[in-house]
Amino acid sequence: MKTIDDLAVAGKRVLVRADLNVPLMDGHVADDGRILASLPTLNALTSRGAKVIVCAHLGRPKGKPDLKYSLAPVAVRLGQLLGCRVELAADTAGPSAHALIAALRPGEVIMLENLRFNAGETSTDDMDRGFFADRLAEPTDLFVSDGFGVLHRKHASVYDVPLRTTSAAGYLVQAEVAALSRLTGDIRRPYVMVLGGAKVADKFSAIASLITTADQILVGGAMAFPFLAAKGYKVGTSLLEADQVDIAAGYLEQAARTGTKIVLPSDVIVAAEPAPDIPYQVVAADAIPEHQAGLDIGPESAALFAATIRQAGTVFWNGPMGVFELPSFAEGTKAVAQSLAESDAFTVVGGGDSGAAIRALGFPDAMFGYVSTGGGASLEFIQGKTLPGLAALEEQ
Ligand code: ADP
Ligand code: MG
Repeated sequence: MKTIDDLAVAGKRVLVRADLNVPLMDGHVADDGRILASLPTLNALTSRGAKVIVCAHLGRPKGKPDLKYSLAPVAVRLGQLLGCRVELAADTAGPSAHALIAALRPGEVIMLENLRFNAGETSTDDMDRGFFADRLAEPTDLFVSDGFGVLHRKHASVYDVPLRTTSAAGYLVQAEVAALSRLTGDIRRPYVMVLGGAKVADKFSAIASLITTADQILVGGAMAFPFLAAKGYKVGTSLLEADQVDIAAGYLEQAARTGTKIVLPSDVIVAAEPAPDIPYQVVAADAIPEHQAGLDIGPESAALFAATIRQAGTVFWNGPMGVFELPSFAEGTKAVAQSLAESDAFTVVGGGDSGAAIRALGFPDAMFGYVSTGGGASLEFIQGKTLPGLAALEEQ
């Protein structure tokens, strides 16, 4: 794979696809992990005299401008971290972007507005995407792919631009691929996988292939409820998509056949809703009250998960164990993070919110083997799938 060290960037207009999809709170960046992870590439490019044009997405706007998803707070934070002003274009590939690019001097950085304000970015139609990719690439000379977290998306800025432009991987993509490659092929065992979070639909299908590689899969977060429901337990008002229950039952059967252990929480912390200072209680996983939602794994489950993690050779963790943003529901996530930090295993934390969770709970990234910026992308990579964004770079 070609990297930015192979590109002559001085004086060139370099379009960088970064993954700056960070959580916001009250119009400010709540966790800047992904912005920090993009700095090595941006600093290298500016110090070599490139004119840097950063493009990224934020959230899931529906293919047209929606100021709620403006990258403005991200541009402010990026400027603070780079120590220079980062001007944000009012559009992505329109007159504002063109004017800012034309005025760029070597060593300067600007940002384009949210890529997903354009329907072509995420279109499943090759022509639509290609048309937008052409518009995006037209005022630039070179392309650097550094948004690891989006490489599994066949999107215009991820897949189609590198097919049309001289391109290379940035340092983040290089580092992610090097670290995650240790979870494919020859893996130090036991290989323990910890899955949680709320984006269950996005991650659920990964389990089929993970059952064939992991020795144990510990399931927490909202991910646990389809499995508990598949065992016939009532899950109250917990997050649950009905169509996942049968699939979960299939996974439990598959695991029983192949000897992989799927470990579900034996106890759960429940409350009426995820709100600060709301009363909560610990209940057995088969005794979730009708009008309550499971919002964290219970203490017994947390202790079992932690003990399993301490004995692992390799651990991959994706998705918080509970609504860690609220202190009442953060203990399960904290216990898993603590045991990962203490484990001698090669530990990888993947997922935007998982990374944010460990930082919010006070665990420095250095306590883990690797903290991936990718959620879905890391999951697909460790399944051995071809990521469209990497495939396009390999065409170079
Ligand atoms: P990641 O970004 O690490 O891949 P997700 O996006 O899938 O993780 O999920 C993160 C979110 O999951 C967090 O905001 C957290 O509050 C939420 N969450 C975890 N457990 C539960 C639960 N039991 N019910 C509802 N939300 C949950
Ligand atoms: Mg997330």
